[in-house]
Amino acid sequence: MSTITSAAATDDGCRNHNDVITVEHVSFAYQHKQVMENVSFSVKERDFIGLIGTNGAGKTTLLRMIVGLHKPSSGQIRLFGEPVGKFKEWERIGYVPQRNAFNPQFPATVHEVVLSGLYGRKKLFKRLNRGDHTKASDAMDAMGITDLGEKRIGQLSGGQQQRVFLARALINSPSLLILDEPTVGIDAETQESFFHMIKHMHQHHNMTFLMVSHDMEMIRGYLGEEPASSAGKLHFYIKHSHETQDCVESNLAHSLKGLRERMEGGREVIAIGNSN
Ligand SMILES: [Zn+2]
Ligand SMILES: [Zn+2]
Repeated sequence: MSTITSAAATDDGCRNHNDVITVEHVSFAYQHKQVMENVSFSVKERDFIGLIGTNGAGKTTLLRMIVGLHKPSSGQIRLFGEPVGKFKEWERIGYVPQRNAFNPQFPATVHEVVLSGLYGRKKLFKRLNRGDHTKASDAMDAMGITDLGEKRIGQLSGGQQQRVFLARALINSPSLLILDEPTVGIDAETQESFFHMIKHMHQHHNMTFLMVSHDMEMIRGYLGEEPASSAGKLHFYIKHSHETQDCVESNLAHSLKGLRERMEGGREVIAIGNSN
């Protein structure tokens, strides 16, 4: 892969990208309090957008409006060109809300929660085939929760639950992944795996991202030092990927291969060191 990219070629390619999310003049008020005023931005195919803002800037509210869980007080939001209210292809979108603890009695296993990511919002009772179970195993492997499959979700620690929700969002290989503080509460090793995976998905698998995070190290490291644009108290860091889509693997775990080898290599060195 060449590091010198012809600007003209890139521009031509980029002109063909579709809008994935369009937010037009959106305002939101809650109990007479203005949370957000006249926010506009768009996310194009193959963008990775990091959204930063102080508490109360409305980051979570904005994500909830994008996935149709809140209605803007005014303005319009479109997903893949379709107004959110009419949008139906929810299987194209993975959404991981901010972490919230589950009731220990919640009657679903980890495996079931991950599988439920395949159903979309309508087909709740769709029959599962072997391919579905393969996808679930792959997503669980990628998030390191294979051993937890038969546990009830409520029995898990907060960090483990978060890994389950990440696996659930990834299982469909969504075109758009919307993440609200995805790595809060999870261990450093899983955080590294997760960021490694989503960067790979962004660069090689045509996946688009909108992520709220306060992890400035990750944001700056991947998306750049300065926000590309701001709207009120919201700041947007943007990286567009125009890499050649040369990766033919379709599972999730493959994206961790290099990282896992590196980690295991590191452990081996430590183990050898200890035995001496
Ligand atoms: Zn492009
Ligand atoms: Zn790949």
